[in-house]
Amino acid sequence: MAHISLYRRFRPSTFDEMVRQEHVVRVLKNQIEQNAAGHAYLFCGPRGTGKTSVARIFARAVNCEQPVNGSPCGKCAACRAIAEGSLDVTEIDAASNNGVNEMRDLREKVQYPPVTGRYKVYIIDEVHMLTDSAFNALLKTLEEPPAHAIFILATTEPHKIPATILSRCMRLDFKLIPAEDLEKHLTSVLEAIGKEYEPEAVSAIARAGAGSDRDMLSIAETCIAYDDKLTYAAVTAALGAADFKTTARLTEAMLHGDMPTALFATETALSEGKAVGVLVRDLMELLSQVTIAMTCKNAQKLLALPKDLFERVKLIADNADGRAVLRATELLGKTETEMRFASSPRILLETAIMRISMPETELSAEALTVRLNELERRVAGIPMPLAGGAVDIPVEEPAPKPAPKKVKQAPPEEVPPEYDYDEPPPLEEEPVFDDAFPEPPFSAPAPAPAPKAEPKAVPVAPIADNGEKPTAEVAFGRFLRTLRKTSRNGVLFTMCSDLIPSYEGDTLVLVTDVETIARSLQKEEHRAVMADTFALVGITSFEVRGAQPQAKSEDAITELKKNFSKYPVEVK
Ligand SMILES: [Zn+2]
Repeated sequence: MAHISLYRRFRPSTFDEMVRQEHVVRVLKNQIEQNAAGHAYLFCGPRGTGKTSVARIFARAVNCEQPVNGSPCGKCAACRAIAEGSLDVTEIDAASNNGVNEMRDLREKVQYPPVTGRYKVYIIDEVHMLTDSAFNALLKTLEEPPAHAIFILATTEPHKIPATILSRCMRLDFKLIPAEDLEKHLTSVLEAIGKEYEPEAVSAIARAGAGSDRDMLSIAETCIAYDDKLTYAAVTAALGAADFKTTARLTEAMLHGDMPTALFATETALSEGKAVGVLVRDLMELLSQVTIAMTCKNAQKLLALPKDLFERVKLIADNADGRAVLRATELLGKTETEMRFASSPRILLETAIMRISMPETELSAEALTVRLNELERRVAGIPMPLAGGAVDIPVEEPAPKPAPKKVKQAPPEEVPPEYDYDEPPPLEEEPVFDDAFPEPPFSAPAPAPAPKAEPKAVPVAPIADNGEKPTAEVAFGRFLRTLRKTSRNGVLFTMCSDLIPSYEGDTLVLVTDVETIARSLQKEEHRAVMADTFALVGITSFEVRGAQPQAKSEDAITELKKNFSKYPVEVK
């Protein structure tokens, strides 16, 4: 028995069997039912999304004597004739017949009436491959088509079609098929051929199909041949996905500045036979997955990765700095472009990996980003004490403090500013604490050239000299500055900088209305770093909360009333 590929075996024969593309199918079905087929169509869309299948169904449907629900019946004389290869339906592959002669020939033959059905249908696949003169010849036909002719032009590259042709066609765009629909289709195919399968294997194949039904089924075909049962292990082996581990290791090493490991992993991947270009694309794909895992709540669903792979991606995301990921993606993107013109792409890739692994060479950009983050925070007006139900308002010193600006003109006894965002750090070492701290209790050895503050060694002396507790904002401002200097985890810093501090008793409560940030900060690894940093500024008890708007504000009001019993507190 001759082998028939899965794709051909399970090619849809009616509109209802199509995988997705409802928007196209609906238009065509309606035209059939209303007997109002046009003369020229342009089917655009990525490969393997069903353009040719729809064209064939449509060609049979327009000729069918008794279409069922807009689809060909498959039983009448016309349907059978076409199935046996009637001359009424002609398929032309423009990739191999792209000359003017073919189009002239078509122009001549199209004049003869159809043999069995009502219409002669010409399906021209890959129509963008036609030469200019062939397009002109085709245009002549499209300008004055005989009443019995229908042209269906299919292309993956509609931008290459001349405007004169486009304007004479009804354009229908085919879309990539979502992974879940591919999965459903593959499941039904596997059940039809009686193949046992693991659901993860099906998901992996559907994902590899990348929106194309044809690609997916041909991948499935390879994997099916692997073993009696379609297993996930077999799929990863057949797809070469086993090297995900290498790619993950390389990415991780790169992001953490571990150049030797990164270069070693590169060597491993390339020596396993992976092309340099493929490795670059794999790395970029993984980095984009990491970004999604870092930023999106429903990352697992969005990425549709099997559990173990997702966990690996998540792990990389949790430990990586967002800016580093972005920078790596950008550098690799540039490398990919440059590689096309390079005589030795491998050297380019290795150079890029080295640059990614050595972010210190671009510290200035890092500093700029930090500055930008702070500016954004100021613009967003985050340090507004009342906004988040903060209760510890520094009423003791009501004197010259009209706006939450830094008060510079009170040298000896400075009002603690809400947040002390001075000038962003100049590259070199910066004083660990500046004027949020009343007096430097350390002996500063150097007669520093900077008049404002001297570099100090260790951040101690968390509590103000007068023994009073600093306001929540001040305490938190100290925490942020210390965190910026002691931790290299930029993501942690960014997440923390959006928190709104307030006291509940002695506990510094940090609230965010972004639930993911709250959850992430509640994780042990982040909590530990935060606890260490808080300890440095003298806070022993803190808590991160997601916003629970109702309860929260009531708490705050109660607290506010309690703390300021002298003042009338009115809630508007
Ligand atoms: Zn029929």
